Amino acid sequence: MKDCLFCKITSGEIPIEKIYEDEQICAFFDINPQAATHFLVIPKKHIANLMELRETDASLMGHIVYQATELAKKLGLEENGARFVFNCKEDGGQTVPHIHLHVLGGRKLNWPPG
Ligand code: 5GP
Ligand code: ZN
Repeated sequence: MKDCLFCKITSGEIPIEKIYEDEQICAFFDINPQAATHFLVIPKKHIANLMELRETDASLMGHIVYQATELAKKLGLEENGARFVFNCKEDGGQTVPHIHLHVLGGRKLNWPPG
């Protein structure tokens, strides 16, 4: 979608070092990391937020979660675990309106969030 930051990243309009890419999704490190390891996994298809999901997006979302765990393992997060987060809209703290799964690891994270 025009004027979407993450669509510009998936299309290559904004060049970025990707840590994973296939036909449906890509992953890259967060520009403002909140943990020793912090990366995002996003669909190439523009979906603004979780509330916009259709039932037909189920396998895409499963693929995102599965590849996030594979990358987390490759990046050394398997033993101690990590946090996998989708922020959704204003109250969820979403700032970029294109679905993205945050993976944060490498330190102990607090719960509940503030
Ligand atoms: P949200 O707040 O929407 O859940 O998360 C958006 C995330 O995208 C933030 O953690 C922010 O640091 C990250 N981000 C925003 N712009 C860019 C960018 O241009 N490059 C990268 N790698 N991350 C970005
Ligand atoms: Zn987009």
